[in-house]
Amino acid sequence: MQLASIFLVVLFIASNIHAANNPTFIFHTDLLDIGLPIFDISLKPSEHDVALDKYLSHPMMQIAFTRYSSLSRPPESRVDRKLYSDFIHKLWADNENQIAHPRMQYILPHYKWGMMHLTTVKADSELVKKQFRIWFNTAVEQLPWQGNFIRASTDPIHIVFLFDPGGSFPWVTESSGVEYIFVDVLQLRGPGDTNRESPPDIDITTGLLVHELFHIVQNDSNKPNNAGQWLIQSAVAEGAACLYGNNVPDSRGQKILPKKPIRFPQAITDEWLREILSAPAQIKPFLTLASEWSKKQPKDEEKLEMLTKGKWVATPGNKLYIGNIYRVGAEMLLKIKGELGEKAFADILSHSNKLPEYWSKLEDMHKQVKSSPVAAP
Ligand SMILES: [Zn+2]
Repeated sequence: MQLASIFLVVLFIASNIHAANNPTFIFHTDLLDIGLPIFDISLKPSEHDVALDKYLSHPMMQIAFTRYSSLSRPPESRVDRKLYSDFIHKLWADNENQIAHPRMQYILPHYKWGMMHLTTVKADSELVKKQFRIWFNTAVEQLPWQGNFIRASTDPIHIVFLFDPGGSFPWVTESSGVEYIFVDVLQLRGPGDTNRESPPDIDITTGLLVHELFHIVQNDSNKPNNAGQWLIQSAVAEGAACLYGNNVPDSRGQKILPKKPIRFPQAITDEWLREILSAPAQIKPFLTLASEWSKKQPKDEEKLEMLTKGKWVATPGNKLYIGNIYRVGAEMLLKIKGELGEKAFADILSHSNKLPEYWSKLEDMHKQVKSSPVAAP
């Protein structure tokens, strides 16, 4: 009896600590109502224009366009208001063969599907409005709160549901010191051309939200001031977010939660399982590139070209959903966790610049094991 009550008190304190860390959210679903007429082909052109203008003028769309038109993105992945507006007009005029921009070609299937399935888009929007609080509460519960690499979040996080103008899904951004997560309702059933018959999978959606929330709550002391540090930080942040949010395996098939499924849409899971096999061979070129970029800052164009051609980031050109930075990060982190232990793993998550140092420790360990003589029987 006494033991049970001590246990209850401990549990109460633990849950209160957790509650104090919980981020608060401000949800924005109005873009779903404002944007729905984009997909309604029964409207007159003048009605379409009014609706599109209202959608494009929404303050959250300005934040989206700022992110998508950033010069830090490869040119073929940049989207601004004009490009997107032209894209929608071409769709309405049934001129999709005039859509030449690679990023617009990439989002074309999402929008075509939306126009052919207005009632489904509406139903998914209604589902979001009913369920989003539950999805986010579940995602918050699943963050690795026990880790000392998580920071308590005091400022509210804005969650924006929309029909995404650039087709990332979902994504985080920061604007004037405020954190945002944007969630594309057109892709709740899966990305690209995948089969969209089934309703949104809640477990997969939650996994994607855990991934994005992890980016906001990860407390990394590394504040990159060159491209090399940025590369290392990205590999740690994206690798860890994939491990905790999407429960992805490394090249040996090991995961953080071995008995639970991968939480990516099917097309991204297929890509991960195929591409992760080459991750071990990519670690060395990755660390070499990071070290070169730390010594000598590359020109912006050169950097973007290397990132795109080397498939380190996903672009319409290399046809990846996820860049190799994610996989190389997850591969190194899981191996370090397994062989150097939890402490080393946690240390990297709070000081991502230590990744190369821990990785060479692991390699030294392997070399010693190989060269040590076999004991006589
Ligand atoms: Zn991410």
